[in-house]
This record gives sequence, C-alpha cells and structure tokens, in this order.
Amino acid sequence: MRPVRKPMIAGNWKMYKTRDEALQFVYAVNMKVPNKTLVDTVVCAQATVLRDLVKRKGENLEIGAQNMHEDIEGAYTGEISAAMLENIGVSYVVVGHSERRQYFAETDEAVNKKALQALRYDITPIVCIGESLALREKGETESFVGAQLDAALSSMSKEQVQQIVIAYEPIWAIGTGKTATDEQADQTIGFIRERIEKLYDLETAQEVRILYGGSVKPENIAGLMAKPHIDGALVGGASLNAQSFLDIVDAAQPKK
Ligand code: PGA
Repeated sequence: MRPVRKPMIAGNWKMYKTRDEALQFVYAVNMKVPNKTLVDTVVCAQATVLRDLVKRKGENLEIGAQNMHEDIEGAYTGEISAAMLENIGVSYVVVGHSERRQYFAETDEAVNKKALQALRYDITPIVCIGESLALREKGETESFVGAQLDAALSSMSKEQVQQIVIAYEPIWAIGTGKTATDEQADQTIGFIRERIEKLYDLETAQEVRILYGGSVKPENIAGLMAKPHIDGALVGGASLNAQSFLDIVDAAQPKK
C-alpha cells in the first residue's frame, strides 16, 4: 500500500515578478488554494517580496525563499540568513537549486549546511538534486544523484530527514519544455527513496517527501502524481501564472 505522504506543490518564481505582480498573484490564488490538510501549496519568491507575501497570503498558502546563507549573521554582503527568514514568517527555503549550483558555485557542502541551518529555525528546506544530460547519457544518473544526496544529508538525523523535502530536478528538463517521462522521474525518485532506506531506515524512506521538478505543467502533472514515489512538484515557469499554478495544485490533490 502506498504510504500516506501529503502531496506538495511548490512554485519557484526564480527572478521574476515585481512586488505588484507578486501581490496580484497571491490575491488571485488565495481563495482558491485547496485546504492545507489535503495538499501543501507553497510559493518560493524572491527576497524583496517575501514579507509582503507572508502578510497577504491566505491560510492555505505558504511562502518560501529561494536561497539563504548557511551562517546566521556575518560579513556576507548581499546574503540573508535562516534567522532573518524565520523572523518574517517564511516557512520553506529552496536549497541547492541547479541554477545556484551552476551560476553561484553552490557546493554540496554548503547545501548540507544550509539545510541543517534551516531546520534549526523551523524552516523546511527543499533540497534540490539532479543530473545533467551528459551524465544521464553516460548512464551515471544514479551515481551522481546518489552522491549529491549523501552529501546533502551528511550528519542529518533520521528525524531531520523526515522533515525535509527533496526535489529531484534533472537539469536537462528545467526550463527546456522537456519533461522527464513519468517513468524516468519515478525511477530516479524510487532510487533516492531506496538510498534513504539504506542510509536510515524504511520509516524514514517512507516519510520523506520527494518532488519532481523540470517543465511541470497542468498537462503533465496528473501522470507524474499517479506514480508511487512522486509526492508533488517544484514548478518553475508554469507557477508564474495564477491559473496554471492552481490547475497544477488541483491535479495534485488526493483522488477521492
Ligand atoms: P521549470 O523549472 O518548471 O521552469 O522547468 C523548474 C525549477 O527550476 O525548479
């Protein structure tokens, strides 16, 4: 039987939306987001709008950041910390997105420290891992994703792992319109779950939520959600439009 993990849809707005646009989005979705007992609905926005979104969001919507620094304070020009995010009511943070790894040299070690620090502040980290097209074509998806996972979970207790969210995002599927097939996504996510079972135990592997990310749209979410290991999605482009985001969230609700 499929263990009961609450589905989750997280929008990742990346560097899009001014304050006005962000508020318009939240007003448009607020009343339409399904009850949070059915599905966790999150919008991960850029730092300048986080406080406004936390204030204006409806009770079924949660707000996340897209990055944070691993230290709590210090001389790190341009950075924000978990303490600062917690202080304004942010409840999720994306860590280790492939764009941050690629363009901002975010290392596996930093991803691990960020995730641990977020947890100390009761912020749920959405930890991203995923391989490039070259690695997939060489048949190295599992060895690469496995190593990223091991590094991200380094020194994490099983209780902590059960609280985090993992997002499997094959780099070749991000923003390309090329979604992994439902089978490819489920297979790699199944592999991640098995590895968590080996590193921890069955309970932890069954508890942890693992999302798929990469060109998720209203048209392909149902097929992904029907797969046993996929608990939801991290959605970039299709989360920018209120209606398409709501359609994805609707399709992720448990079937009656
Ligand atoms: P995409 O982005 O849905 O636009 O492919 C996903 C992501 O980068 O999280």
